[in-house]
Amino acid sequence: MKSLLGKLNREHSLELEEYQLLIENINPDLMKLAAEYAVKYQKEYYGNKVFIRGLVEFTNYCKNDCFYCGIRRDNRECERYRLRMDDIISCADEGYKLGFRTVVLQGGEDLAFKDQDICNIIKGIKAAHPDMVVTLSIGERDHDSYQAYFDAGADRYLLRHETANPELYARLHPGEMSFLHRMNCLQDLKNIGYQVGAGFMVQSPGQTARDLAMDLKFIEEFKPDMCGIGPFISHKDTPFAKEKSGTLEMTLFLLSLLRIIYPQMLIPATTALGTIDPRGREKGILAGANVVMPNLSPTSVRKMYTLYDNKICTGEEAAECINCLKGRVSSVGYEIVEDAGDRVGFYK
Ligand code: SF4
Repeated sequence: MKSLLGKLNREHSLELEEYQLLIENINPDLMKLAAEYAVKYQKEYYGNKVFIRGLVEFTNYCKNDCFYCGIRRDNRECERYRLRMDDIISCADEGYKLGFRTVVLQGGEDLAFKDQDICNIIKGIKAAHPDMVVTLSIGERDHDSYQAYFDAGADRYLLRHETANPELYARLHPGEMSFLHRMNCLQDLKNIGYQVGAGFMVQSPGQTARDLAMDLKFIEEFKPDMCGIGPFISHKDTPFAKEKSGTLEMTLFLLSLLRIIYPQMLIPATTALGTIDPRGREKGILAGANVVMPNLSPTSVRKMYTLYDNKICTGEEAAECINCLKGRVSSVGYEIVEDAGDRVGFYK
């Protein structure tokens, strides 16, 4: 297996079967070697810098019913909220004061926010802070909507593909959702000129090593600017309530493989990683991640945006969050920087 990892390190590409073999044969030695290769690239392109993105979860309404998600449409137990436009802009202002130069506006697919509303929010943030990068994470929209947000000033878009296997996609989502549409959205976003973030769940219900290999192959070929992965964690009010969570080990191993596949890619140490292990995010950085995404949402709504159970950081103010993260990141020899944090080599 080590020679296969060596091949990946030289060529940044493997056959699907080879990725599958690596995943099936995960062991501590292989994880260690993968992390060594990964950190070499992380340091080469980003030094010991870790970028921060301030997350504003502005609505937990969603028209979709993904089987794994705590804010899915049919979850009657979920208390719903929408932030007002000036509240969203205030969160960005607060983030700017704390040193954030990227804000991520994240929400369910909430059609109450029309395209014009989204554009006005983007313009409001840009007017107050021209050097603040605006990232959207609001799901599937049509090409014209994506274009309108981009023209209004949005810079980046996060849309996890969740799995690159259409059959698994169909088992994780209701029939009204389409794998092909999700993939077309990602392509549209890239064509328009966004920095694009894709990503997938690790060890979601029914997922095989082959499925994960397909995710790695997809990332190798699509080359998103960012790839976010997190272990699957169940939510009590979903059809997957009793399913087992993904493991820290597999998530860290895949994270290292992603860094080796595409060394310049932005890779977050996700909140889900911090949820399954108290030092999950630090371990993520040591496996090759270079981004963390603390929460800027008002504390009054944090607990209502739970995609999975036991999510961390739902109680602290933004300033507390960032101070806590600075300490965590420096404890493993890295440094949070006040920087928009583009992918190395990305030119708008
Ligand atoms: S995963 Fe996203 S699209 Fe699916 S139900 Fe949750 S918020 Fe909606």
